Amino acid sequence: MAGQNSGYSLEELCPSVYAIDDRQEESMYLVCGRERALMIDTGSNGEPLTPLIRSLWDGPVALALTHAHFDHMYHWDEFSEVSLHSEDIAAWNKVLRPVVWISSVGSGKKPKRYPMESCRPLREGDTIPLGGKELGVIHAKGHTPGSVIFADEADRLLFTGDAFGSGSYAWMWMPGCSCLSEYRQSLRELLVKLRPYEGYTMLGGHRKQSQLPGANPLSLSLVEDMESLCTRILDGSCQWEARERNFGVTTYTYRWGQAALVLRKNKIC
Ligand SMILES: [Zn+2]
Repeated sequence: MAGQNSGYSLEELCPSVYAIDDRQEESMYLVCGRERALMIDTGSNGEPLTPLIRSLWDGPVALALTHAHFDHMYHWDEFSEVSLHSEDIAAWNKVLRPVVWISSVGSGKKPKRYPMESCRPLREGDTIPLGGKELGVIHAKGHTPGSVIFADEADRLLFTGDAFGSGSYAWMWMPGCSCLSEYRQSLRELLVKLRPYEGYTMLGGHRKQSQLPGANPLSLSLVEDMESLCTRILDGSCQWEARERNFGVTTYTYRWGQAALVLRKNKIC
């Protein structure tokens, strides 16, 4: 249950849509329709998620992942039905599983087995019906090959995962992240696909990060700045402003306008 002593905090964003945040700055969302509910991501908190979900919704609930990273999928085993974009399923064994394993160990959690063979593959344009409302699937390649955004037209919400960060910076340095030119192309396509959703509220996978100093709320103009930032890094007109070590890898932070990226040098191509 959410409360002072719980690992989770809860906010009702609008009727039947809840944001759940954990102590690791991970944000998950429960969207309830008339017949079914969809849990978007799970976080990696040490406490199970199901008791909190059951306090909000007593019908069937499925899990859909914005992408296959540890901090979005750790509680997969609490769900009997899980969906993920086909490109993350395809990249699982060779690329994403090692990243998830290292993230588990690095955060002191016991690595779990994720039964990817039982996962329902999602594709661009798919819809997930919940009864009275449905969520659309928008492919947003870059942070992972199969990163997606879920669009809730009934509530005018976009659940963006880590596709372009949560307002402070996008992590694009890990194995499985696109190189910059591929990410820029994906952002260009995404800007076209997101036009019909102008004015929707964007909800990222780490929404508390939008309150950090220098952060900006997620918006289409931030995505535009992210696309420009890619160009400026590629043509050498934007220099890194910070260098740090992440999981033993040297990474560089670049910033332009509202957008910031964390890269390793081999992604600049
Ligand atoms: Zn991620």
